Amino acid sequence: MRLVLLGPPGAGKGTQALLLAEKLNVPHISTGDLFRANIGEGTPLGVEAKQYIDAGELVPTDVTARMVKSRLEEEDAGSGFLLDGFPRTVEQAQILAELLEEKGLTLDGVLNFEISTDVVVERMLARGREDDNEEVIRNRLKVYNDETKPLIDHYGDAIVSVDAEGGVEEINGRVMAALGK
Ligand code: AMP
Repeated sequence: MRLVLLGPPGAGKGTQALLLAEKLNVPHISTGDLFRANIGEGTPLGVEAKQYIDAGELVPTDVTARMVKSRLEEEDAGSGFLLDGFPRTVEQAQILAELLEEKGLTLDGVLNFEISTDVVVERMLARGREDDNEEVIRNRLKVYNDETKPLIDHYGDAIVSVDAEGGVEEINGRVMAALGK
């Protein structure tokens, strides 16, 4: 199964993706996690990405898309994937569509995690990641509204909406039901 997970930062996509990846037996591919791993290892990609991540800005699309392309070419992604954090712009969605088309593949759906701003700010502050201070959170939400939210219209009928407020298990149940599992 090939799914994209959409939703504002702090919507719990990563947590749900981990549960879902196990149940569907496909890898969870998170661009944020890939960037953080590169930052931790001090790779040139990590050094470049860090300045954008620390400011709550998007890492340039060419850098991000190259990283995603090479990850999708790894063997485990042959059986499907849960893409978490990519695409984040309509341009990135077009790049993903081209990457899939080259392989003769299509997406099975786009899960959209719906949640109020108050709850996401609360969750992000509780998470305490380095890029989770109030100013950076505000910027990430603005970037989400300006750049990522238009993807909901872009994907149209492929969107499967999930109410992302509540407990982890409760939300997982909604996700499975929404996927007909
Ligand atoms: P996340 O873990 O998904 O919240 O991502 C953390 C940060 O990584 C974001 O705030 C961006 O700076 C960067 N990032 C993750 N995915 C992308 C992407 N698809 N395009 C550009 N930047 C991204």
